[in-house]
Amino acid sequence: MSNTSKILGIDFYNNSFNNFCKEIEIKASNRQNTFIVTANPEIALNAYQDESFLEIVKQADFVVPDGIGIVKGAKMLDLPMKERISGYDIFLHMLDWGNKNHKSAYFVGAKPSIMSKMKDVIKKTYPNLKIAGIQDGYFKDELKVAKSIQKSNSDMVFIALGSPKQEYFINKYREVNNGIWIGLGGSFDVLSG
Ligand code: UDP
Repeated sequence: MSNTSKILGIDFYNNSFNNFCKEIEIKASNRQNTFIVTANPEIALNAYQDESFLEIVKQADFVVPDGIGIVKGAKMLDLPMKERISGYDIFLHMLDWGNKNHKSAYFVGAKPSIMSKMKDVIKKTYPNLKIAGIQDGYFKDELKVAKSIQKSNSDMVFIALGSPKQEYFINKYREVNNGIWIGLGGSFDVLSG
């Protein structure tokens, strides 16, 4: 069990970004089913105020402090919190890792125009990463999306539907595919430029 610090009922990962990346790389290599929540203060507060969402967050294998607000909050409470770990930094790291190790990734979220731009960026920047699937975030049939992820057998599944939608989606469907599942908020918009 990793070192954690409890804030607002959530056990936050309390170690460095580099150590987090190492842990995730091992889990991805072993195809361990892993759910990562990248929690900014807004997400943490939402979980605190909404018990059903808190239960979802508690199902995660890792909740990382995505935002300096969480780190500062920990300091104020005299709790240890190593450093901020942002979803976007994890995303970039895992794309790079996937590229170097010829792994596959499935992408769900954002507007169709963003996804077509992001596909170009990924193909150019990470040519050895296999794109197992790309699905914009405005679908009607979620079961169909889940089945497609299952069929893809992807090493990593990146879900950017905004919170709490992405965490509900991951918690509901993570069993269809063993690998890394991570909620990434607006990261696809950022990567697409
Ligand atoms: N989004 C989506 N489907 C939805 C609602 C939102 O794919 O039904 C996408 C939206 O296009 C954006 C991301 O989810 O790419 C949410 O970004 P935002 O910055 O609002 O998320 P946050 O980082 O605040 O969780």
